[in-house]
Amino acid sequence: MTLHVTIIGGGASGTLAAAHLLQRRITPQRLRITIVEARKDVGCGIAYSTDQSSHLLNTRVNNMSAFPDDPSHFSRWLERQGLGSGNDLDFVPRRTYGRYLADLVAPEADAVSVPRLRILHQECVALHVHEHGVEVGLADGSVLPSHFAILATGFCGDDRRTSSLENPWARPLDRDPAEPVVLVGTGLTMIDMVLSLLEAGQTGTIQAISRRGLLPQSHKVTKPLKLSVADIPIGSSLGYMLHWLRTTIRAHEAAGGDWRDVIDGLRPHTQLLWRHLPPESRRRFLRHASTIWDTHRHRMPPSSAARIAEAQASGLLRIVKGHFQRAERTASGTTVTYRPSGSEGSLTPEGSHAIDCRGFRRISLPTPNRLLQSLLDNGTARLDPLTLGLDFDHRDALIDNEGQSSPRIFGVGPVTRGTHFEITAVPDIRVQAARLAELLLGSPGLSVSATA
Ligand SMILES: Cc1cc2nc3c(=O)[nH]c(=O)nc-3n(C[C@H](O)[C@H](O)[C@H](O)COP(=O)(O)OP(=O)(O)OC[C@H]3O[C@@H](n4cnc5c(N)ncnc54)[C@H](O)[C@@H]3O)c2cc1C
Repeated sequence: MTLHVTIIGGGASGTLAAAHLLQRRITPQRLRITIVEARKDVGCGIAYSTDQSSHLLNTRVNNMSAFPDDPSHFSRWLERQGLGSGNDLDFVPRRTYGRYLADLVAPEADAVSVPRLRILHQECVALHVHEHGVEVGLADGSVLPSHFAILATGFCGDDRRTSSLENPWARPLDRDPAEPVVLVGTGLTMIDMVLSLLEAGQTGTIQAISRRGLLPQSHKVTKPLKLSVADIPIGSSLGYMLHWLRTTIRAHEAAGGDWRDVIDGLRPHTQLLWRHLPPESRRRFLRHASTIWDTHRHRMPPSSAARIAEAQASGLLRIVKGHFQRAERTASGTTVTYRPSGSEGSLTPEGSHAIDCRGFRRISLPTPNRLLQSLLDNGTARLDPLTLGLDFDHRDALIDNEGQSSPRIFGVGPVTRGTHFEITAVPDIRVQAARLAELLLGSPGLSVSATA
């Protein structure tokens, strides 16, 4: 019997899932993988489609291998491409990483004999689970019979489309570099936008607005603190957890260490922490602590930090603390209204462009993703309680509206954010992809209920 796994979404998560299934070296007679990807490329998704060389990975080469048990896999690929610098602590352009991801699966898809992998550039619009598997419905009306489906659809739709702000990932518009620009949000997306504007010779002012005006911290070479599960107060309230974190950081710094060592030491445990955080604590974390966590956890390369600091020092970039209220398109550009922190009134700077750099937020319904909306509509899926993504169990099986785990539909990457929270970066997604491959294919043979 040939086990057929269909992966919906060919961004980083879907490609990593396919790579881990392929790594099992199961013959084409026993395994067939289909990636269904609506875009024209595979591997890039949103993060790695950028063609700007200033858009760097915010993770070092030595942490970006597709395979957690082969940490130099990416670095060896860079060497083979003639792109290696010999320094695994470097930050390379994100577009290079997109090529690496595409290369993980391309040779399989191009195989002249019987390929184990095929890529369909189509939109998937429906999944129907039946006794023996799952039918994957495509936009052209065709149906793929599969044993398992893996949702790798990314951050599943946000309410950006309801705003008059521009999409940061749309193609750059023709702009006059002397015109002012307003950016809403001061996280990593804002950093990307400022670097793009600088590269295009921006001379007009750039104002970046966010509630706390916090920028991502800069990377430093760290020595992650060795923390075992027993060292961490898993299951405690948010208040106690934050107290523990502050105390641990203070003690580590007093001993000559850096706060980053503690954050990086905590990283292997963050999913477990999230899972055991009481629901009310999760809510409070998102409301009050997630911005601070994100700015310390998701850091920018030192070279980007230096360029941002320079732009601030020259007065070109101004970071403003304020609460974004609305944006309106006018004949001459976009007017953004925000309330400066600590003030009652509103300010309305006008930019020739105003760009949404708030990152991905919660799902608002209806989601623009037709497949996800149909799964929600027919009860095959439900949102996680915090509406960060769809609801999955700890094995990444989709949970339906009656609370039952699907035996056929699984998830990988940010679509499972409600369950794991820290599942947006490659070092986390690759571990999840490996776990899922193990679950679906078993080891060493195909032991999962594919024959059911
Ligand atoms: C700007 C940016 C920079 C980042 N930088 C880093 C970094 O330096 N290091 C790091 O570790 N992480 C980084 N990340 C995080 C990370 O790698 C992403 O979270 C990851 O790319 C998520 O990939 P994904 O495949 O789940 O989602 P996406 O990239 O959104 O891809 C999902 C894909 O699914 C397809 N799709 C969705 N629905 C359907 C459907 N119904 N039918 C067919 N196709 C469908 C979409 O077309 C899309 O291509 C970055 C993220 C962003 C946004």
